[in-house]
Amino acid sequence: MFEKHTWIRLPRNVVVGHGALDRAVDAVEDVHLSGRPLVVASPTPYEVAGQRVVAEFEERGADPAEVVIEEATFGAVERVIEAAEAADAGFLLGVGGGKAIDVAKMAADDLNLGFVSVPTAASHDGIVSGRGSVPEGDTRHSVASEPPLAVIADTEVIAEAPWRLTTAGCADIISNYTAVRDWQLAHRLKNVTYSEYAGALSQMTAEMLVESAGSIKRGLEESSWIVVKALVSSGVAMSIAGSSRPASGAEHLFSHQLDRIAPDPGLHGHQVGVGAIMTEYLHTGADGQWSDVRDALAAIGAPTTAEELGIDEDTVIEALTTAHEIRDRYTVLGDGMSEPAAREAATVTGVI
Ligand code: ZN
Repeated sequence: MFEKHTWIRLPRNVVVGHGALDRAVDAVEDVHLSGRPLVVASPTPYEVAGQRVVAEFEERGADPAEVVIEEATFGAVERVIEAAEAADAGFLLGVGGGKAIDVAKMAADDLNLGFVSVPTAASHDGIVSGRGSVPEGDTRHSVASEPPLAVIADTEVIAEAPWRLTTAGCADIISNYTAVRDWQLAHRLKNVTYSEYAGALSQMTAEMLVESAGSIKRGLEESSWIVVKALVSSGVAMSIAGSSRPASGAEHLFSHQLDRIAPDPGLHGHQVGVGAIMTEYLHTGADGQWSDVRDALAAIGAPTTAEELGIDEDTVIEALTTAHEIRDRYTVLGDGMSEPAAREAATVTGVI
């Protein structure tokens, strides 16, 4: 008897490219979102894009409300929920590099309102996925809700974002290689459901990005185009899988652990990139493809060592040996690395 079923939730409108911001209201109207828009932005993105979105809605006769948040915290989510209730908002737009998007996404999920993602930087694949998380003390609150109804990514705006955010986005995509390996391993060892389509799409996305590394250069708007399209493709892979598995394996657990224990954590994408060098080593051994992962990261100017991340060696080792405890997701880390093994992995790969 055949009993499989799947429910794929994708973003409905993905508008990417030069001047995409001018189409924001059209993209929103096209998905039949109604009621008062609430624009949620962090300070700089508010100035470079949020104000423009607000002005566009006003030109069309809407009366948008707005809220500027400083930090991605649980308190910020509460503030956005209150602002949405006070404004009687019909839907939310998150305008920012990641924080405002995460916060708006979580608030929209809580309020059961539609959500539109307006990334101003291509720093991680959360801009197109349903996943959002904010730290609270030692833990993180996360949602795994539906993806945004629309994504509006203006490459002209994104090209102006700090370059390190773009290299972080690239590194997040390069880590798809190891995320897919972990997923396949979990399938073989633990019978975790594996989607061939989602796995192949995620891997291909990483390959295409690595092949385009030569065109990913500071100041080139085309770089933003390449990276945003890859982030969208990665998000689609997650939508098909119905989980973050295609783009999140042990390298993500390592990064989440660094976020918890490092005094001054690096960017998400940069941390998962360095994590991916080491987990690729764990998958394929000293003569394996970890050096390809490292070289791809180096080619786009992302960190490949603890020093470049600004994180000390002992913190890297602690994160490696404890990352498996973070969540119930089987990866190559298994039931945890011993300290000598972690030190060996970090040393062989040149991370420490
Ligand atoms: Zn990521």
